Order: sequence, then structure tokens, then C-alpha cells
Amino acid sequence: DNLREGAEQKVVFITGRVHPGETPSSFVCQGIIDFLVSQHPIARVLREYLVFKIAPMLNPDGVYLGNYRCSLMGFDLNRHWLDPSPWAHPTLHGVKQLIVQMYNDPKTSLEFYIDIHAHSTMMNGFMYGNIFEDEERFQRQAIFPKLLCQNAEDFSYSSTSFNRDAVKAGTGRRFLGGLLDHTSYCYTLEVSFYSYIVSGTTAAVPYTEEAYMKLGRNVARTFLDYYRLNSMVEKVAIPMPRLRNKEMEVQRRKEKSPSYKHPLLRGPASNYPNSKGDKKNSVNHKDPSTPF
Ligand SMILES: [Zn+2]
Repeated sequence: DNLREGAEQKVVFITGRVHPGETPSSFVCQGIIDFLVSQHPIARVLREYLVFKIAPMLNPDGVYLGNYRCSLMGFDLNRHWLDPSPWAHPTLHGVKQLIVQMYNDPKTSLEFYIDIHAHSTMMNGFMYGNIFEDEERFQRQAIFPKLLCQNAEDFSYSSTSFNRDAVKAGTGRRFLGGLLDHTSYCYTLEVSFYSYIVSGTTAAVPYTEEAYMKLGRNVARTFLDYYRLNSMVEKVAIPMPRLRNKEMEVQRRKEKSPSYKHPLLRGPASNYPNSKGDKKNSVNHKDPSTPF
């Protein structure tokens, strides 16, 4: 429905592999894509409400050459978002043009931008976000990573941080966080190159390709939790995620839930007509509540 002409599109924009050596980024991105195109009931609901734009590989020439960080021409593309050149940074230039075009289109609301990376020294999955003067915006920005932490045992909210270091200027997250308005949230999603520790335990669990893809699936499903929390998705008969085991309970207690006192609407809720509720309720699902 959200693809029909004239409909307002709520867009989630995801990019990956701007740093060619960060192969886990591609597995996470693959997990997101596989989930979104699947027949999983949550994926079906997400497709009904949101438009996902995914550029899975921002640095294809660097990947082809086996570079660790740079493009063919030796640029760290994640420092050139401010003024990408069409010949020196063509992928950035193209993606940025598309994002600016969507930003200027009144029928399009760019709600999330997530750039996926891999981290060579930290463990777990975690996020970087931006710092805003507006305290409420700052708080709201923390909601998505907190929800993701509840869904993914390898994702750490305590490692998630918000910054405005000079060294990160020119990154996709920082640049787009400045360009887009207060209804958009921009994150860098980092995942460890090697392992994660489930909160409440001490043993490091080595990441596998499957575990990276699982994180991707959990990122995707977290959008439903987010939009349901914000009353954007109504009458969807999918229960909130249940705790799977003791570790999750410990994790939940340790990494305190965000305060949802102001679940602000990001636009008129009427974009989602209630008349469709019946259809959504009829979605057949066995147990979609279990996080991956
Ligand atoms: Zn990176």
C-alpha cells in the first residue's frame, strides 16, 4: 500500500560495506534483506508500513581489490559525505543525491539511516549515534538501540555511545544527522569482528556468519517494536518479544528499559488507516515473538 502513487512513504535507509575490509557488515546486511523479503509475519507488516532502501555495498571497488578501508582511489569514503565528488566518490555521491531528493520530497519521510560497519577491537554489536542539544530528541534516539538490545543477545546497549568527535565528521551518520530534521535518526551499527558476550555471562561467543545474519534479522524486526511503541503500527496482533531465557532477563534488568513516557508520533497516525486492521489481524503467525 505504501508504494501506491501519492502515498506518503516512510523510509528506512540502510548502507553497508563503506569500509571494504569489514566483511561482517555484509552478513548483517544480508540478514536484514533476507528477513525483509521473507514471508515472516513481522516482515510482511514492515513491508506494508515502511519502505526500505538498501545500498549493501558502498565501496565495491575497494571490496574487489581486497582493500581494508579505502576505495580504488585511496579515499576513506566514510569521511567524504560532506562533499562527495561524482568521479572520486561516485557511490556516495549517488546515495547522497537520493537521500537529499527524498528529504526534499514532501511525500517522503526519511525516518532512519543506519550505516553498517565492523569493529576490530570492541566486542558485541553496538551503535554510535549523534548528540543533539534537544534533550528530547536525544532521548528518543536511544529508543531504537534499547529495543534492539532486548531482541538481540549479542547487541550491547551499554557499548552504544553518542558523540560528535571531530574525527567522525564526514561520516554518513554525522553528516545525515545534521542534514535531516528532528524526525530522523541516524546510526552507525557496529559489530565485532570476533565475538560477543551475552550480558550476565562471562564467556565470549565467537561470531559466525550465521550470528551476523541473525543480528541483521533482529535489526529488521526491531523496527516493528519501534513503530508499535510509537503507535504508528496499530492493531497488529503480534505479541511483544518474550524473554527467552535467564540471560535475557538479566540483560533486561541490567540494561534498563528506556522511558517511554513520550512515545511521540512522528507524523499523523492517520497515515495508517485503521480500516486495514482486520487485514493485519488476519496475518497468520506461529510464534513471531521470539527474537532470533
Ligand atoms: Zn567501518
